[in-house]
Amino acid sequence: MQQTQELELIDSRLEDIFLIQKQQAIKLRNSTASQRIALLKRLLEWINKNQEDIRKAVHADYQKPYPEIDVTEIFPVLIEINHAIKHLEHWMKPKKVGTPLIFLGTKAYVQYEPKGVSLIIAPWNYAFNLAVGPLVSAVAAGCPVIIKPSEMTPHTSALLRRMMAEIFDTHTVEVIEGGVEISQMLLSKPFDHIFFTGSPAVGKIVMKAAAEHLTSVTLELGGKSPVLILDDADLKDTADKITATKFLNCGQTCIAPDYILIPERLKDAFVEEMKKSIEKMYGSNKNGIEGSKDYSRIVNESHFKRIQHILSDANLKGAKIEFGGNSNGQENYIEPTILSHVTWEMKVLQEEIFGPILPVVTYDNLDGAIMIVNQQPKPLAFYVFSKNYKKINAIFNETSSGAALANDCAVHFLHRELPFGGVNNSGLGKSHGHFGFLAFSNEKAVLKQRVGSAAVNPLFPPFTLVKKKL
Ligand code: NAD
Repeated sequence: MQQTQELELIDSRLEDIFLIQKQQAIKLRNSTASQRIALLKRLLEWINKNQEDIRKAVHADYQKPYPEIDVTEIFPVLIEINHAIKHLEHWMKPKKVGTPLIFLGTKAYVQYEPKGVSLIIAPWNYAFNLAVGPLVSAVAAGCPVIIKPSEMTPHTSALLRRMMAEIFDTHTVEVIEGGVEISQMLLSKPFDHIFFTGSPAVGKIVMKAAAEHLTSVTLELGGKSPVLILDDADLKDTADKITATKFLNCGQTCIAPDYILIPERLKDAFVEEMKKSIEKMYGSNKNGIEGSKDYSRIVNESHFKRIQHILSDANLKGAKIEFGGNSNGQENYIEPTILSHVTWEMKVLQEEIFGPILPVVTYDNLDGAIMIVNQQPKPLAFYVFSKNYKKINAIFNETSSGAALANDCAVHFLHRELPFGGVNNSGLGKSHGHFGFLAFSNEKAVLKQRVGSAAVNPLFPPFTLVKKKL
C-alpha cells in the first residue's frame, strides 16, 4: 500500500516536470543558433573543468580504467559537442528545395523545428557517453530533455544529476534516476521524441510504449556484430585490432566484435596472433591480465553469472578454450577468452555475448560465411578483414548492417560525419553529428504561395489545368 502511494507520488512529480518541460519546449522552439551554442559551450566547459570527477564516478561503478574513460567516455562527447558548435548554424538553416513547374512563383523549403520534450534512456556500459552524447544532439536541435540513466551505474547517474543541475535550468534538462518502474512511468508520458540506447528486448518495450502516443523513437540497440576474415588478411594487424576492440570495457561494448568467421586453414595462426596481441596489450605486468590497469571488470554479479553461464554452456557442448577461461567472482573479473569448436546450438553463438569471450567459427567457402551473416538478425556493425577491396565491396553489397568496416573494428563511433545506428534488430534511426540533430528535429515542409494565385491552383475544379500539365 505504502509502495503504491510512493509510486503515485513519483508519477505525479514526473507529470509536473513533464508539463513544465512542455511549456519550455514552446519557448525553446524559437531559440537561435547562438543561444543553443551558448548552452553547448557551457556543457563543454563543465566537462573540461570536471574531468577528474567524471573519471572518479565512472570508475567507481565498475573499475573502468581511467585512460579508457578518457578515450571512450569523455573524448567522444567532446568531439560531439565541438562538431555541433561548428556546424549548428548551417544545420539549422532552412534548406531550399527545387521548384516543380506547377509551383512556379512559390517559395518552398525545409525548416528544422525542435521536436519538443524528449526522453533519453541510457544504458550502463558507457553510462556517461551514452547519456550526454544524445543530449548534445537534443540541445542542438532545441529540445528540453529528461535523461533516465541506468540504475546499474549509480555513481555516474549521481554525477549526471549534479552536472545537469549546474549547467541547465531545471526546465531544460532534468535527470530522473531509477530502474525499470521509473523508466516505464516515464514511457507512459506523451513525449515528442524518445532516444533509447539498450538491448533489443527492452527496445521493443520502448517502441510499444511510444506507439501509444505515436511518439517518434530512435532505438540504439545491440546484437552480435560479426568479423569476417578472408584468406588474404594480415593476421597480425587483424588480431591487434580485434583484441583492442573486443576486450575494451571487458567486452561490454555494443559494437564489439562478437564472433569470428575465418577459413579453417587460418584458424590456428589467427589464434596464435590473438594470444600475442592479448599478452602485449594486457599481460605485460607481473600480475598478468588481472593486474592490468587497462582491463575493466564485468558491471555486476548478475552479468558475471550470465557470462559464466554462456561459457559453461559452451564447455558442456564441446567448445575448446584456446586462451583464457579464468575468472575471479570476488572482483567480477573474467579473463579474455578465445573459444574454438563452437556450434550454433551454443548460447555463445545464439545470444549477444557482451563480455570478453570470443568464439571463432571456421568456414570452408566464402559464400557459406556470407550466408551465415545473412541468416542472423542484421547486426549493428559488420567487420571484414582483407587486402582485396573489390571483394570487400562485393561482401558489403551482399549483406545488411548498421555499419560496415573494412580492416578495422568500432572506430566508426568516433567519425562524426557518419550516421551511427543499427537496422531492424540492432536499431532504428541514427545518431551522431548532423544525424543526431535530425533525430530530434521535425523536418517541416514550408510552402509560400503568391497571394491571388487561385487561378493556377491545380486542386481547383474543373481539373483542366492539371490535365494540361500532365
Ligand atoms: P537494457 O536494455 O537492459 O537497459 C537500458 C535502459 O533501459 C536502462 O536505463 C534501464 O533502466 C531501462 N530498462 C530496462 N528494462 C526496462 C523495461 N522493462 N522497461 C523500461 N525500461 C527498461 O540495456 P543495458 O543492459 O543497460 O545495456 C546493454 C545493451 O545495450 C546491449 O544489448 C548493448 O548492445 C546495447 N547498447 C547499444 C548501444 C548502441 O549505441 N547501439 C550502445 C550501448 C549499449
